[in-house]
Amino acid sequence: SSLIQLENIVKSYRSTTALNGVDLSVEPGITGLLGPNGAGKSTLIKIILGLIRVTSGSGEVLGCRLYRDGRRIRNKIGYMPEDDCYIPGMSGIEVVQFAGSLSGIPPTEALRRGHEILDFCGVKQERYRNIETYSTGMRQKVKFAAAIVHDPEFLILDEPTSGLDPEEREALLNRIKILSTQNGKSVLLSTHILPDVQQICDRVIILAKGQIKLNDRLEVLNQTV
Ligand code: ADP
Ligand code: ADP
Repeated sequence: SSLIQLENIVKSYRSTTALNGVDLSVEPGITGLLGPNGAGKSTLIKIILGLIRVTSGSGEVLGCRLYRDGRRIRNKIGYMPEDDCYIPGMSGIEVVQFAGSLSGIPPTEALRRGHEILDFCGVKQERYRNIETYSTGMRQKVKFAAAIVHDPEFLILDEPTSGLDPEEREALLNRIKILSTQNGKSVLLSTHILPDVQQICDRVIILAKGQIKLNDRLEVLNQTV
């Protein structure tokens, strides 16, 4: 059954209609959300997370009601935003521990899990340094770790490979694949980079000008490009 089901979602900002009648189902596995800048990807993600209200339409996310159950939804989802979001002066391990604490994990357990996840993400001694001194790649790893520290069943990753060199990109895509195949996590991976989708996704959703153009298995995309 679908993890996310949206019906006829419209989202208008003052002068723009960012989403214009979106019907969407997200299935288990890794789904790529592909679309150019301005397509409405971030708006769609914020609606799924219950961070903004729809103008009209309805939906369900992981068995919860859209927006009204926002807090419950966010506890079930690991979200890696596109922007950096951390308190200046924190070390990598503190950022990940803090993210865990926000989800209700007790501090010592959040610290233990933080170290475990940073090991998995390939952050070594750097974890004790101020995050402001990190390279882009290292910051992406910590953001990814912070998103998964509370062991969410569903991950939403917004442009996770941006700013990574080819080797780091490969490593991150591998980690996402491992979380899916070995830990049973489902993932919505938002990107404008076609090869990211082709490399690890099971399904693909194409969003353009606020409308869904395709929602199908990856093979169907590969037959059209
Ligand atoms: P994407 O993530 O695919 O780049 P967005 O959801 O960020 O797309 O944006 C979709 C459209 O909505 C764009 O035209 C953008 O300028 C507009 N938009 C996004 N957020 C806001 C906002 N807070 N206020 C006004 N317009 C917005
Ligand atoms: P409040 O209701 O106090 O304003 P929020 O609704 O901002 O709090 O946050 C409630 C929960 O959602 C917290 O666990 C927080 O970590 C999480 N959260 C806040 N913003 C986001 C986000 N952008 N993505 C995912 N989770 C978020």
